[in-house]
Amino acid sequence: MGRLLTGRVVIATHNAGKLREMRELLAPFGVEAVSAGELNLPEPDETGTMFSENAAIKARAATKATGLPAFADDSGLCVDALDGAPGLFSARWSGGSKDFSGAMARIERELATRGATNRRSHFVSALVLTWPDGHEELFEGRVFGELVWPPRGDKGFGYDPMFRPDESPLTFGELSSEEKHGIDWTKREALSHRARAFLALAAACLRRPE
Ligand code: IMP
Repeated sequence: MGRLLTGRVVIATHNAGKLREMRELLAPFGVEAVSAGELNLPEPDETGTMFSENAAIKARAATKATGLPAFADDSGLCVDALDGAPGLFSARWSGGSKDFSGAMARIERELATRGATNRRSHFVSALVLTWPDGHEELFEGRVFGELVWPPRGDKGFGYDPMFRPDESPLTFGELSSEEKHGIDWTKREALSHRARAFLALAAACLRRPE
């Protein structure tokens, strides 16, 4: 077991979609979550070459600025036929405008340019928890599936409307966020990459209040 997380924790993200999902995931555990955006913390440069490094950069910056435990998710969509792109650059493919319909269209365009018929892809989430004394923990989750075109559904965020997990006929954009998390606490199973990483984090560092 890892170290128990109690009291106040910073969710080190400025991404509204991720923040909503992380708050939902934390809700049963009696932890008070405040976001980096709400605290006006600056966004550190994500200079890592792996999801786990970027998550650690964001969590460490938030812990350093606040003296509180923090956790950060670094995540992205990896497309097999594009050699894992957009991957670490998933947010950047949307450009400054955060227009993910443009980013999804770019994936489709690049697949067409390569004449690719392989539409396999997966989402990755690396969650890093940092404490003020320097203790750190890393948890990772993945979900595998197919890219659909045109995108379907207006729920979720980012690339959700283009991604259909193997476990469902619906895209993440067509699933409610509860269905996308897909958490079954008794079986210790989850669907989304973030919920899978979170389940591991919860098993190690969180306890449900009595
Ligand atoms: P970052 O981790 O802040 O660098 O950004 C990750 C980017 O990956 C997000 O802006 C989304 O575009 C994409 N992404 C990560 N997780 C999800 C998800 O659950 N659904 C859809 N897109 C996601």
